[in-house]
Amino acid sequence: MEKSSREILSDNNISITNPRIIVLEQLLKYKKPISVEDLQDNLRGQVATSTLYRVLNDLKKINVISEFITPGNTTMIELSLHEDEHHHHLFCKSCGDVIDIELSLGFEQKLSSEIKSIEKNSFFIIEDHGLELIGRCSECRDSF
Ligand SMILES: [Zn+2]
Ligand SMILES: [Zn+2]
Repeated sequence: MEKSSREILSDNNISITNPRIIVLEQLLKYKKPISVEDLQDNLRGQVATSTLYRVLNDLKKINVISEFITPGNTTMIELSLHEDEHHHHLFCKSCGDVIDIELSLGFEQKLSSEIKSIEKNSFFIIEDHGLELIGRCSECRDSF
């Protein structure tokens, strides 16, 4: 069962404030990555911009959300409530939509073993990996 915004905050021992609730509610409702600009638009009149940035920082600190940059250089926010959740993204270069995808377990396992051998050979400590798939979403694919 999905946790409520209140539970998320209290589980992480940070105070339950209205702006935090509003931002979390919006992300829980949206269920996919959202750009900071869109988030700002959606919360216009409810949360001031400076407050929004402060709230996002607070939520980042407790690892409730994560941030990433799209190939088009847009900063995106997404919920990361389950620590072991690992996924990748599809990027639509036409409308900018970002869609969560999971790769097959077999592929991820192959990738991990590949990464381990790269780590060994390069004396580099690899902490994470990304894979960007760039194209056109179902709504944009036909308008070309
Ligand atoms: Zn699109
Ligand atoms: Zn992966």
